[in-house]
Amino acid sequence: MPKFFIKTYGCQMNERDSEQVAHSLVARGYERVGHESEADVVLLNTCSVRDMADQKALGKMGMLGRLAKERPHVVFGFLGCMAQARGASLLKDLPHVDLVVGTQKFHRVADYLDELVTTKAARTECAPYHSKRAMDDLRFSIVDVDEEVGSQSTIRDQQLMPGQATAFVSIMQGCNMHCTFCIVPQTRGAERSRSIAEIVAEGRDLVLRGVKEVTLLGQIVNLYGRHEFPKIDNKSPFVQLLESVNEIEGLERLRFTSPHPIGFRDDLIDAISRLPKLAEHVHLPLQSGSNKILRAMHRAYTAEKYLDLVERIRRARNGVAITTDIIVGFPGETDDDYRQTRELVEQIQFDNAFVFRCSPRRDTPAAKSPDQIDEHVKEQRNQDLLEVVNKSNRRILEGLVATEVEVLCEGPSKTNRARLTGRTRTNKIVVFEGNEELIGALVNVRIHRANGFSLYGTPVMR
Ligand code: SF4
Repeated sequence: MPKFFIKTYGCQMNERDSEQVAHSLVARGYERVGHESEADVVLLNTCSVRDMADQKALGKMGMLGRLAKERPHVVFGFLGCMAQARGASLLKDLPHVDLVVGTQKFHRVADYLDELVTTKAARTECAPYHSKRAMDDLRFSIVDVDEEVGSQSTIRDQQLMPGQATAFVSIMQGCNMHCTFCIVPQTRGAERSRSIAEIVAEGRDLVLRGVKEVTLLGQIVNLYGRHEFPKIDNKSPFVQLLESVNEIEGLERLRFTSPHPIGFRDDLIDAISRLPKLAEHVHLPLQSGSNKILRAMHRAYTAEKYLDLVERIRRARNGVAITTDIIVGFPGETDDDYRQTRELVEQIQFDNAFVFRCSPRRDTPAAKSPDQIDEHVKEQRNQDLLEVVNKSNRRILEGLVATEVEVLCEGPSKTNRARLTGRTRTNKIVVFEGNEELIGALVNVRIHRANGFSLYGTPVMR
């Protein structure tokens, strides 16, 4: 049977989509391999959030053109957000690409590949006996970037690795917020949610297969179900979902990402205070500390409201970690706007933050603004803000030295295979000595030191 390789760019949603595709291919008898050179099918699951992500995937596919010459039977495909945004135009400059599948059609990939693998193999076998023209006539590609009703319910299966204790569950697709810098509403479409029953069934199945921690995924996760399901007892559909998943027997930890400050209401704060499986970590995108820039971004909250929300979350759950996303260099961002962001970040003392330089995306209002910021200024603000974030990160990690933390062991450390690694409930990475029997288990670890973004310690045996 054919062998496939899939490379994923971008966020956790993309990782989850790739696992769905991998599962459907394995179910058809395809074999997953770890490198493109061994594969008969090479898929790039792409991201479009920043220009750099687009360029990386395009560059990679360009380089794969060499492999296409050496192994003409290999099928090449683009999946996901960039495929959705660019569609058939991707075939123009990259003639070896056979397949372009958008974000609502991952469940069709296996069918399309069956067809392409067979055709391409036949074509390769015939090649010595036919002219180039005749071979070009035989060439065909498949492009499917159409919308599909119900596609949010098609991301529901995944392959688990031996000992895998954490898994993502996609609860909704799309976003209706239209932040002026973001291409996601174009690539992922409008908000559509799965039912609570479907999501809980997937969670139960994962737990039966050994998973202990589930992360609920959505572009705007806390607004889950707002178009489909009613509030009950003043609880949003998202809080109802959290309560139901919290009830799954054998599940130890529950996370969600990424919420929007809008829609983070009292019922959700209350859920954070009372649902025991909900891990003490909230990733809450800030984007800017300047009200003028927030307005221009079409983020319908103020810096004051954001700060108040952080304080309410911190009061609701002792020791909760708060992380964020921030964009610097949004069109029109003055030194004073940036200073307001910096001051708010210093005041909040985030556990960690992803800081991005604004990357204008095609067809977004931000890209059309005449007030673009010089790349050099963006870079300076980026470096400056990273220093502020790294300082609070270091201080918080150092505060954990000489304490004991609960770690869900995920496997060998990437940098030193002789050690194990996992995450605390507050999502801190911990590296520790231990044997492989601990993989997939909850382990208490005594922290000895903090270095970079990781903690180091020894398991506590009782
Ligand atoms: S809420 Fe998030 S996904 Fe939706 S438009 Fe804004 S940044 Fe993009």
